[in-house]
Amino acid sequence: MISFGPIPSRRLGKSLGINNIPSAKKCSYSCIYCQVGITRKLSTTRKFFFEPEIIYTEVQKHLDSLREADKPDYLTFVANGEPTLDINLGESIEILKTFNIPVAIITNASLLADKQVRDDLKLADWVSVKVDANNEETWKSINRPFGSLDFKEHVEGLLQFSSEFKGKLVTETMLVKGINDSTSILKQTAGLIAQLKPSIAYLSIPTRPPALAWVKPPDETVINEAWQIFSDEGLDTELILGFEGTNTGYTGNAMEDIINICTVHPIREDTMMELLRKNNADPTILTTLMHGKYIQQVEYGLNTFYIRKFN
Ligand code: SF4
Repeated sequence: MISFGPIPSRRLGKSLGINNIPSAKKCSYSCIYCQVGITRKLSTTRKFFFEPEIIYTEVQKHLDSLREADKPDYLTFVANGEPTLDINLGESIEILKTFNIPVAIITNASLLADKQVRDDLKLADWVSVKVDANNEETWKSINRPFGSLDFKEHVEGLLQFSSEFKGKLVTETMLVKGINDSTSILKQTAGLIAQLKPSIAYLSIPTRPPALAWVKPPDETVINEAWQIFSDEGLDTELILGFEGTNTGYTGNAMEDIINICTVHPIREDTMMELLRKNNADPTILTTLMHGKYIQQVEYGLNTFYIRKFN
């Protein structure tokens, strides 16, 4: 199946998925947390998979079958592997843009040193690049890249693309316990991402069965620290912890507001008190939410924060 969904997504609204890579999975990485399993055959060679016209026809049929209310906000390349391995990616994006629906691509960013890949991605409206680490050793441990990939070139490709791309650039960093979640590694990663100047830096955790069974998410204290470190770099940082938050602010329902906002980012104690005051809510609802294991209190620096509990 080339197209699927639409799937509700906090980042993209209603997103119609496009898989431009036929099975089995083809990727230039074999990330330890990959939810589609281990990459059996890694590659960096771009290949022909589908004629762009075939992708277009499939998407057209899919769009025609949807009710008006289900029409997608984005057509999103989220492939069975790495979408930039498709040599026809640029042509497919161009032809899909005739639907007048913005095109999004989620890429591992490993091939950005290649000008043709950058040129293809520049045709999209929204691009998410994976940045899990900013040192070679950690990059190799977490992403397990194809042998010929060079860390320095990978970073240069990222910087080059961010300087050329005119659409909306976001980053996604997957946090894995004991691999890329130490203070020093987080600071390195945040430093690189700050140079990319993304609209939003997303921090995520493994929430589905990972390629390697021992892979675990960091605990809430560390996720809070990561958010603080990224925010200190001036990054607009949001959490993706496995459930959708709305980040809508104050709705009048304090419990819902707290859960929604904590899902996206930690709430500092003084902000929390202000939120309760605005909602005329009783502070004891915090105890209720903590006992119900919806949120957790964590300390960072001299402050107390509340963060969504995911365990
Ligand atoms: S880049 Fe994506 S598809 Fe490739 S191994 Fe990593 S998580 Fe899986």
